[in-house]
Parts: sequence; C-alpha cells; structure tokens
Amino acid sequence: MDIRLYNTLTGTKDRFTPLSKGVVGMYHCGPTVYNYPHIGNLRAYIFADTLKRMFLHAGYRVHQVINITDVGHLVSDGDDGEDKVEKMAREQHKTSQEIAAYYTDVFLANLRDLNIDTRNTHFPRASEHVPEQIRMIEALEKKGYTYRTSDGIYFDTARFPAYGALGHIDLSGLREGERIGINTEKRNSTDFALWKFSSTGTKRQQEWSSPWGTGFPGWHIECSAMSTKYLGDTFDIHTGGIDHIPVHHQNEIAQSESATGKPFVRYWMHSAFVNLSGVKMAKSAGTFLTLDELKRRGYSPLAYRYLILSARYSSPIDFSDTSMEAAARGYTSILRSTEKLVSVEPIPSHSSYATKIDEFISDDINTAGILALIPEILGNSSLRPGEKRSLIETIDALTGLDLLKKPSRIPKEISLLLEKRNEAKSKKDWKTADALRTEIQDLGYEVMDTKTGQEVRKI
Ligand code: AMP
Ligand code: ZN
Repeated sequence: MDIRLYNTLTGTKDRFTPLSKGVVGMYHCGPTVYNYPHIGNLRAYIFADTLKRMFLHAGYRVHQVINITDVGHLVSDGDDGEDKVEKMAREQHKTSQEIAAYYTDVFLANLRDLNIDTRNTHFPRASEHVPEQIRMIEALEKKGYTYRTSDGIYFDTARFPAYGALGHIDLSGLREGERIGINTEKRNSTDFALWKFSSTGTKRQQEWSSPWGTGFPGWHIECSAMSTKYLGDTFDIHTGGIDHIPVHHQNEIAQSESATGKPFVRYWMHSAFVNLSGVKMAKSAGTFLTLDELKRRGYSPLAYRYLILSARYSSPIDFSDTSMEAAARGYTSILRSTEKLVSVEPIPSHSSYATKIDEFISDDINTAGILALIPEILGNSSLRPGEKRSLIETIDALTGLDLLKKPSRIPKEISLLLEKRNEAKSKKDWKTADALRTEIQDLGYEVMDTKTGQEVRKI
C-alpha cells in the first residue's frame, strides 16, 4: 500500500517509508492524569488508533507508545506555577499517586469504551522514568546546552538553530515577549525547564534527588526520554494535538536531537481540535464534556467515534447536540443494516470497493471517505452478501466501529425496565427516566434515545 501522510515537519503530504522494513514505531503524547480526559482529548487517541489500524491492515508490525504524564506538567503549561497533579491532590486531600492512578484508570476505561486497540501499546509513566530523564539532562549538560537559574536547569534554545522549524513557527513574537519577561533569569523566552528544584522550605509529594538538587523533571523531557527508550533515538511517527506544535514538540525535538546528535522523528502528525461553539474544548476553561457524560446522555462511545471519523483528523470538529445526535442516528442506522451480515460467510471481494478503501485510508487517513462507502456497499445489488460481509469486515478493522457485533438478546428484566422508561418518557417524567437508565446501565446495558425510540445494547 502506498501510504501518504501529511507531515508537519515538511509541510507536505509525504510517502511513508518505515525506518525498518515491515515495522512502524509510533509515539503519542498522552494525557496529564489530574482530571477526567475530555472528549476533545480523546480525539487524539482515536486518531492514534486509526493510524495503528491502517498500519496493521497494510501488514506492518506496530510498536506504539502513549505516555502517562503524572508529574511535572505545571498549571501554566510553561515553567511556572503548581504541578497539576499535586494541585489536584491537595484540593482533594489525596496523594499524588492516588490522583494519578485514578485518572489513569479513567483514561484506560475511556480507551476501552472507544474500542481503541491497546494490544502491544505501552503506557509508560513519567514518574517511573526519572533516571532516564536525568541521564538525558546530563547528556545535554555535558554538551553545553543547559544553564542553571534559581529555580531549575534550563535548555538554551539559542544553541539549537533548528528551533521553531516544526510547523515553521515564527519565534520573533515569542522572543520579543521575553523583554517584558516573566522569568528574567531565562536567556531566551523559548528556553524551557529540564529540571525544576523543589521550592525551599516545601516538600513536594513527588520529588527526586538529582545531580542538580532535589526536584522533579520538566514536562517536555519525559517524552524525549521515554520515546527514545522504547522506540530508539530515531523513530517513525510522533503525534499530538495541534496545540503541541509551537512549544511542546519544538522542545522535544531540541532536547532529543541535541542529546543524541541524531534526527528524532521522521513524520510528525497533528490532530485538530474538537470545539464547543467554535471555541477549543478545554479543561482549564471548564468548557468540556467527558465520555461518561455522553454515556449518561444516552450516546454510545462508538457513536462518538463515528462522529470523529466522519471528519479528517486534521479538520476541526464543532461538537454540538445536533452533530452528536446526527452521528448517533447515522451510526445506529448502519448497525441496523450490517446486522444482516453478521452470520453471513465472508467471500473475498475483487470489486473496486476494496481498492477504494485502501486508497482512502492511505491518503492521509481519509476516514470520512471510508464511512461514505458503507451505505454504497450495503446498497449495491451487484455485490453478493458474502462480499459485502468481507468489505465491511475490512472497514470494521480500519475504523474500530464494531460493525459486525452479534445483536445481543435482551433479557426479560431489561425489556420490562425499558417499557417502564418509555412510559416515564411519554409522561415527561425525566427524573424517573434517568433513574431507570442508571438501573439498566448497572445491569450491563446502555440505552440510546433515537428518533425511532429507545435502542439498547450490551455494554
Ligand atoms: P493533555 O491531557 O492536556 O496533555 O492533552 C492530551 C491530548 O489532547 C493532547 O494531544 C492535546 O493536544 C489534545 N487536546 C487538548 N484539547 C483538545 C481539544 N479540544 N480537541 C482535540 N484535542 C485536544
Ligand atoms: Zn509529549
């Protein structure tokens, strides 16, 4: 398969060739586990999963790493302010470890709900890779890339001429900002902390001794240390949301290439935002929705996955009740049609659809093109059911939409609860309807309200 991917580094759609034949190494910037991931964050992992599914379909072995940031990400997203995890721990009277463990579990449960394939995916924690991060900072120090300020060890970006090359970031604005300056000890405004000292007189919950003093690693160094540890000094693909282009990914490149003396990543790919009323969904602004909230509203996580895949990963998506409802209806109607194929024996299809599927997915992951093929395939009378079945199987493997699930038999007690809920709804008794939904959910089924009535699926 001739795979072409838009590479932020070159600014063009490039033909993909792997570093080692038949294998692809991918790193995806993971969540900071201090709060619930919002459905915008989850888009980044649906994208990572779609890339993985494409490579598996094309016959590659896939090494995939998603890091878990459980230390060092400060509330400012820069080098100042409190650590997000420690702050939440203080507010909730918990330990940092408890906070990180709880939200890591939530994240992993969200990935399961979204049918994200985590086989062979590593989830390394920043707090468990502090020696690796210290070693990388030592390597940078030895080569003269670092300097010390009163609050930490910093990377001198002026010593890395390619700084700003990814996405062609104009640094003049950033450098100018420095003259007004927040941290006057920084040599350049783009410089960033590699190691932060624990403030004198305070004991952090997570701190380590280092050659420079007790403290904790800066946010960016974990990605360089863990990606190169698991994937090698140079690897194939690195992804993240577009907000990571101007700072986090520039910093990753600067510190990795300076430490190893080798190119860091061959293809950089960035997924666009999920917006709410035109504004980026963000935890800090409090304008966000979680996957559990979507479920409470009666939407299946896979209907959300369907919504995300209906646009290309690089186009922003405006999330609204209307777009979610339309996606849920579209997804349910596809499931109703594919149900007929569940017990059909697949027959390999030599139709042009098989080629079209490959062309769409290998053309910079055009999932929208693939979804548009589904009704065409299902409605095409010249295809035998077995051919339809095998084409839908391929689409299922690429999209992860679980299109060929056996319809589960609904137990009697669930049907009774559904009837009661229907009654409550017709009386506009939303409180009872919601309570019944929870009861049904506790028994392992989820209810979706669609235009044609209640739909129920086994969770
Ligand atoms: P964080 O947990 O904040 O480090 O973010 C995890 C991932 O979600 C990163 O790849 C971000 O770029 C991405 N992200 C953050 N906000 C949004 C959004 N509104 N829509 C899509 N992706 C986002
Ligand atoms: Zn990262």
